[in-house]
Amino acid sequence: MLKLLFTIGLVYVVWFSFKNWARIQSAYKEVQDEKARQAGAHVKPKSRQPVVQDLVPCPKCGAYVAAGTACSCEKA
Ligand SMILES: [Zn+2]
Repeated sequence: MLKLLFTIGLVYVVWFSFKNWARIQSAYKEVQDEKARQAGAHVKPKSRQPVVQDLVPCPKCGAYVAAGTACSCEKA
């Protein structure tokens, strides 16, 4: 009788795990994402715009400057 209960319990655990595998995986992924988000929050928030701007070569001197800004050679 005990063996039967054990077998039923084992089957239930396996079935339960199988049934909720996708949910377990997504929950695990959520935890990992949250951890990554918290770890990266100190460096740069996800919502913030990237700091890197497009660089364009200056037509006069060829130096790369941020798009939309004048090169220092033109200012001088
Ligand atoms: Zn220039």
